Amino acid sequence: MDDLHQLSISGAHQLLKEREVSSVELTKASLRHLAEIEDKVRACVTVTEDAALRQAEEADKAMTSGEIKPLTGVPALIKDNMCTKGMKTTCSSKILENFVPPYDATVIEKLKAEKAVILGKTNMDEFAMGSSTENSAFYPTRNPWGLDCVPGGSSGGSTVAVATDEAIYALGSDTGGSIRQPAGFCSVVGLKPTYGRVSRFGLVAFASSLDQIGPVTKSVADSAFVMNVIAGHDPRDSTSAPYPVPDYTKSLIPDLKNLRIGIPREYFVEGMQEEVRTSVQAAINKLQELGAEIDWDVSLPHTKYALAAYYILAPSEASANLARYDGVKYGFSYQDTNNMWEAMEKTKQFGFGAEVKRRIMLGTYALSAGYYDAYYLKAQKVRTLIRREFDQAFEKYDALVTPTSPTVPFKIGEKVDDPMQMYLSDVCTLPINIAGIPAISVPAGFADGLPIGMQIIGKPFDEETVLHIAFAYEQATDWHNKRPAI
Ligand code: GLN
Repeated sequence: MDDLHQLSISGAHQLLKEREVSSVELTKASLRHLAEIEDKVRACVTVTEDAALRQAEEADKAMTSGEIKPLTGVPALIKDNMCTKGMKTTCSSKILENFVPPYDATVIEKLKAEKAVILGKTNMDEFAMGSSTENSAFYPTRNPWGLDCVPGGSSGGSTVAVATDEAIYALGSDTGGSIRQPAGFCSVVGLKPTYGRVSRFGLVAFASSLDQIGPVTKSVADSAFVMNVIAGHDPRDSTSAPYPVPDYTKSLIPDLKNLRIGIPREYFVEGMQEEVRTSVQAAINKLQELGAEIDWDVSLPHTKYALAAYYILAPSEASANLARYDGVKYGFSYQDTNNMWEAMEKTKQFGFGAEVKRRIMLGTYALSAGYYDAYYLKAQKVRTLIRREFDQAFEKYDALVTPTSPTVPFKIGEKVDDPMQMYLSDVCTLPINIAGIPAISVPAGFADGLPIGMQIIGKPFDEETVLHIAFAYEQATDWHNKRPAI
C-alpha cells in the first residue's frame, strides 16, 4: 500500500489492529509524503524522523503484547506551542527559536502513554497571535487549496498538515478561533473544547483565560478519538475541570432527532461573502432534513461587542504572560551590552515580531492605571454579558450553528498591513472563547475551489452534542472526502 498517509485515525487503527500494516510502515509513509510536499506548503517547523521511527518501533512492540488503542502507532503533528521534551518548541518566534523544553505538556504525555507517534511540530502565527500563519517568524504556510492563499491561523501548520496528509491528525490551540478558522480554511475538522476540558499544562500561554488545546482531524470520528485521550482533569492545571470524561465515540450518531438548533442572526455579519452565507444556509437545511428542529431567528445582541472585548482581554493577558521572555530564563538573549536593562529591552526588540509587540503594547496600555477601569474592567463586564446570553440561548437550544468565518481563505499578503481586517476574520469564532464554550468547524462547501466551514457551538462541557451534530452532517455530505490536488 503506498497511500497509507491518506488514512484517517479510524482507518489506520483498523489496519494496525488487523496486522495489515505496522506503525513503522505507516510512519515511513507519512514521513515520505511529508518530505515530498513540505516545500510547497511549509506546514512544519521541526520534523524529527529518527525519534518518530523509534516511537513507531515501540508502538509495534507494544501492539504485539497488549491492547491496541485508537491512537497507538498513528503518526501526528503538534502545533509548536506545546512543550515537547527534548524537541524544540519555538512558538514560531525568534525568541524561542532554540528552546528545548525539559518536560512534556500534559497532552503530549497523554499521547505518549497511548504510544502515539509524533512526527514533529507545526508552523503557527508567532505565539498564536494571528489568523493567517503569516506572523510566523520563519515563513508563512500556504493553503493547499490555493497556494497563493493563507491557510488561516494561528494553527495553520496543523490544519495544512492534516489537509495534505502529512500527518494522520494534529493538535492545535484556540484562543479566539485558531483551531476552527484554519480548519474551515483548509476543509478539515477542528474542535475547540470547553475551557478547562483539556489541560493547558505545557501549552505556552498566550491568553490564559481563553486558550484551549484541541484536535485537528480528517473526520469527526477522529476528533472523538483524540478527545478521548487528551480530555480530563489535570492537577497541574488549576483551571482544568474535575469532571469525568465521557466516551466521545458514543456521540457519533447519524440522525438529529429531538435536537433543537438555533441560528443566531448576528453571525451572518454584514460584509459576509455571499457563497459562505448560502453554503452554511444549505448546510443548516441539511441538519433539518436529518431531523433537527431549526430556529432561524435567534438573536445574541451582545455579539457585536465580542471583537472589541477580545482585543482588550487577549492582549492584556498576553502582556502579562510574555513578560517572562526577558532573555534571562528562556531562549534568545541579547548579549552585546553591559547593561541589564538594555539587554532585556534589546532581547524583546529583536526577539518579538511586530504583531506580538503590538499586542504587548495594547495590553499594557489597557491594564495601566487610569485606563484599567475604562478598558480591561469594561471588557470583563462585556464578557459576563456574552456568557449570560449564551447560557440563556442554551435554555432553549441544544446547539447553535454559524459560519466559521465570514470569507473563504484570502490571499497571502492581502491583510498583513491592516490588522483590523485580519482581526475581523475571527468575528464568528472569538465570542465562543469569551464564553468558554465548545465549538467545532466542519467542512461545509467550497467557493471557487476554496473551502467553507460551518461552526457548531455547544453548552459548556457538552462536546458530545457538538460532535453528534458534526458527525450526522458529515455522514450526510461529501465535503470531507475532498482532498486538495497537490
Ligand atoms: N486570530 C486571533 C488572534 O489573533 C485568535 C488567535 C488564536 O486563537 N490563538 O488573537
